[in-house]
Formats: sequence, structure tokens, C-alpha cells
Amino acid sequence: MSAPLLSDSEALGLAGAGEARILELMREAAALRDRAWGRALTFSPKVFLPLTNLCRNHCDYCSFRRSPGDPGEWTMTPSEVEASLAAAAAAGCSEALFCLGDNPDSAFPAYRRTLARFGHDDTVAYLEAGARAALRRGLLPHTNAGVLDREALVRLRRVNPSLGLMLESSSPRLCDRGMPHHRAPDKRPSRRLRMLDEAGALRIPMTTGVLIGIGETRRERVESLLALRALHARHGHLQELIVQNFTPRPEIALADRGEAGDLEMAHAVALARLLLPPEVSVQSPPNLNPTRTALLLSSGINDLGGISPVTADYVNPRHPWPVLAELARTVAREGFELRPRAAIYPAFVATEGWLDPALRGAVLAEQSRLARLGDLAAGAALGRAEPSVARGPAPAEATQ
Ligand code: SF4
Repeated sequence: MSAPLLSDSEALGLAGAGEARILELMREAAALRDRAWGRALTFSPKVFLPLTNLCRNHCDYCSFRRSPGDPGEWTMTPSEVEASLAAAAAAGCSEALFCLGDNPDSAFPAYRRTLARFGHDDTVAYLEAGARAALRRGLLPHTNAGVLDREALVRLRRVNPSLGLMLESSSPRLCDRGMPHHRAPDKRPSRRLRMLDEAGALRIPMTTGVLIGIGETRRERVESLLALRALHARHGHLQELIVQNFTPRPEIALADRGEAGDLEMAHAVALARLLLPPEVSVQSPPNLNPTRTALLLSSGINDLGGISPVTADYVNPRHPWPVLAELARTVAREGFELRPRAAIYPAFVATEGWLDPALRGAVLAEQSRLARLGDLAAGAALGRAEPSVARGPAPAEATQ
């Protein structure tokens, strides 16, 4: 039987942990990961489809978003979506990640006219069409479209085995004047927590996460993890939690903010592992932490998230994906085996009620294919993880 989770007050007490205590927490988190997930380090071979970079928010750390008319404004055409999906299927990808700015329909009439030209009434309709196109090519869609209402969640659930929304932080303080979410109405924690709650009520397996280093305090990080834990206790729907680090760039308002150091990241990852129930996958993006694979493994991650053999990380394009063969060797040195996984975790497939019945066949087929691929130590099954689809939005960085 698993040990009981730390209480909220015990968790908050760990916010101020010093180096020695953080090292202990890392050991406890790694042991817990070993018991729950073993020594397989998973990743999702994906294609990244940045459907549009139009966004009504202005997060101070983002260089992905655009308004209509801005240089680098981007909305993928249906034929560009098809071309990316075809390249992904040919490269053996498993997941089609649809990612876009928040609420462009409500903010930009010009964008709605673009959608109408494509034959769609709204973004959700375009996302539904894209997801169906992905399924036709044997790819499993996973959509991260920012804050969505209940009707949109219901519609997207029919064509997505799982959906995503980063909480980033539960701290309303980050929305105050002078803080990074001041001009980002969709980053109000209450809106994001409400959507995550609705997704749980609809029995949608969800990917979520926290963003580290945008001005939050350590206590606020712990509070964010506790807020996610409370949602998961209510619905059991959080399949994975991303611990994503902010990385500074010259063109953003937070250009001068330092990056979270090794100890900060280790502390955040270890607490994510220790505070959430062990069945929740904990991941950290390898392209944002190219020198930290061993550190992250020692802190309790069991997953690396999406890695694409065909497209750049459009929201973090300055950070290339790792080469799979090299990554496999690195994790092997730490005693792990790199393995591909699907966009929905097995527990949600095995339990009735999470997956729309219309998607079951596609998911089971993909699970079988990935199991056959098995050990990617040579990195041969998916080739080199480097972009081959040339077109995309301008260099940018964001989360959703
Ligand atoms: S981080 Fe996401 S929500 Fe914020 S401005 Fe960028 S695209 Fe929009």
C-alpha cells in the first residue's frame, strides 16, 4: 500500500526547504517514482500543430502570441494541417498536438473571417476537423486550446483521447499590475481551475502543470500543486503534471529575469511527485532542460512529454528537441529505458468512462504499435528528433 500523501500543512512547510532537505526530498521522490512507474522513462512522439498564434492575452514571458496584422501572425490552413499530419504519420509519430493562443474567436473578427473561409464557424469546429484528420492518419489528437467552456470540452472530448491546460500558477498575485499575467484575462487562476474542474466532471483525462520562475514564490508553487491535488481528489482525471521552467529571452518583458536554477527545479519536481498521488505522471520538458536529464530523474520524473521528429517546439523554438538516440543513451546511463507512450495513459483506457467509445479502436491500435516499437535505445524507430516541416510561426515562447 502507498504511504499517505503529505498533508497540506506539511506540504506548505516544505516550501522553505534548504539544500539538505531538498536532497532528501529528491531521494524520497525518486523512490516513489520507482515504486509507481519503474525504470521506464516515457515520451510521446508527436507532431506539433500551432493552429494559430493569435491570442487575446499578453503574458509577459510570451513571444508566441500575435494580433492580426502583426509580423509573424499565423493561422495554419487546412492543407498545412494535412501536410504536417502526413509528415508525422510517415515519421511514425503517435500524437497530434494542437496548440494555439487563447480565445482568438472572441478577440479578433479578422480571424473569424479566416475560419469562415476554411468553412468553420469557430475554432472548436476547426479543431474538431483537425482531430478527425489526425485520426484518419492513425495519430491520436491531444488539444491544448487554452480556457474552453463546457460545450467546447464536450465537443473536443469526442475526438481527443485527452486534453491539456496548464494551470501555471494558482496565485492571483501574478495577475496584479506589474506582474506577468496582468494583461492575460485567461490566466486568472479561477478560470483555469474552473475549466480543469469541468473537464474532470466530464471525465476527460487531462494534462496540466505549473510554470516555474515567472515571479511566483515557492509557497505559491506548493499552493498550485495543492490546488491541482484537490481537483484530482475530486475527479481522478489528471493523467500528467508538467513542471515547466520559464526561460528568458531578449524580446520579452521578463527578459532580465533569471532562470530557475538546478536546486529550484529539483525542489519543484520532487514536490510535484510527492504531493500528487503516485499514479499522476510527472514530466519536465527535455528541450528546456538539456543538461538536467539526470537531475530531473533524480527528482522523480517518469516522463519527458512530447518530442517531435517532424516539427519544432513552436512555442519554444530556440530549444531544439533532443536527439532520441543520444537521449536514450543518457537515460540508460542513469538506469532508465526510454520508451514511447500514447497521448492517453493506460489507466484511463483500462477504466470504463474516460475514453469516448468512438476513439477506443484507434487508441488500442496505437498502444499496440507503440508496445511493438518498445525500446528506443537506438533511436532508430523514429529517426532523429529534428524538424522537417519548414513552415511555422516566428520564433516564440509560451505556455498554454
Ligand atoms: S502564454 Fe499562451 S495565453 Fe499567454 S500570451 Fe502566450 S499564447 Fe497567449
